Amino acid sequence: MNSTSRVYNFSAGPATLPTELLEQVRDELLDWQGMGRSVMEISHRSREFAALLEEAERNLRHLLQVPEHYKVLWVHGSASHQFAMVPMNLGGAGYADYACTGRWSDKAEREAERYVEVNRMAVRQESDGMVEISTTGSWPISEKAGYLYYTPNETIDGLSIDEPLDTKALYGSDVPLVADMSSCLLSRPIDIEKFGVIFAGAQKNIGTAGVTLVIIREDLVAEAPRFVPTLLQYKTYADHSSLYNTPAVFPIYIAAMMFRWLIKQGGLAAVAKQNQHKARQLYQTIDDSSLYRNNVSPKNRSWMNIPFTLTKPHLDELFLSMAEARGLVALKGHRSVGGMRASLYNAMPLSGVEALIDFMCEFEQRYAEGVDEL
Ligand code: PMP
Repeated sequence: MNSTSRVYNFSAGPATLPTELLEQVRDELLDWQGMGRSVMEISHRSREFAALLEEAERNLRHLLQVPEHYKVLWVHGSASHQFAMVPMNLGGAGYADYACTGRWSDKAEREAERYVEVNRMAVRQESDGMVEISTTGSWPISEKAGYLYYTPNETIDGLSIDEPLDTKALYGSDVPLVADMSSCLLSRPIDIEKFGVIFAGAQKNIGTAGVTLVIIREDLVAEAPRFVPTLLQYKTYADHSSLYNTPAVFPIYIAAMMFRWLIKQGGLAAVAKQNQHKARQLYQTIDDSSLYRNNVSPKNRSWMNIPFTLTKPHLDELFLSMAEARGLVALKGHRSVGGMRASLYNAMPLSGVEALIDFMCEFEQRYAEGVDEL
């Protein structure tokens, strides 16, 4: 297969990667940096891998403007591991506030209940068939909370909280803010200092599954209770520069390439502009149509994951199969909600979104008015 046979892949994750990056991976598989071996076949303690890790962290810090007093950790496993690691490591107060806005925050909240008492804040509302998140200032927070947990981008629901969240203003004290940014990290600039912990599974904007990036304020890296396994303690990763044991070398190698690619794109400000433009175009198409519908209030619409339904659901299968025949794949919505979902991560080019829009308009013209109705 060559790059011309590649499709536009709208998968929510594992997600599309830049073609040029995959071409480089292909070229380097048998011989990385003249070593006659791939990156998967060298010691993680070698000079070459150490340099890669160092470069990845430097580029990430540059892209996100990560201040010195934050650690960057490459933690094993998936984002779901963090649902346990967060309360295990930060649950000292025995109590935490969880903003429940969708499927991923719900899952995180249920996991946290195993370790701490949780104030489950149902801050998602529905009115006139539209979903929105109540303004953060009105969240029913608890004075006892040791941290506040939220999910700025709910990947399944296509819900985004763009409002800045300032825990100092909210609590009147420095309660750490924990954010699951699995599906939005690196999609736009953010103010890291507002956060205590940010984590993101790698298989969307960072690269490929197997590692989770954690950015944590230094003072929160503390001794965890004795029951916490060594590899589930942030301190282990911080104390050993993520090399306590063999790290996920291949996903880290991919992430390092992704960071280089992002810098080449002009950094996060440039990428954000492009992401906003892509999302706006697609939302406009949906809003202008009588066949497609997105039920998220405009203030909470995600740039990364755009779910939509057809007002004629019996056309769903036809829509998906015709899209696939055009090379527009993985548009089926999450199994728990149905419908469609287009994920527009950094690596989805504008041409992919334009091709999707062209297809959607043609499909609507052909089928919406009952013409060619099956
Ligand atoms: N959080 C969010 C926001 C996600 O989108 C996902 C996966 N799509 C997860 C957590 C869970 O990720 P993982 O499968 O890596 O555990």
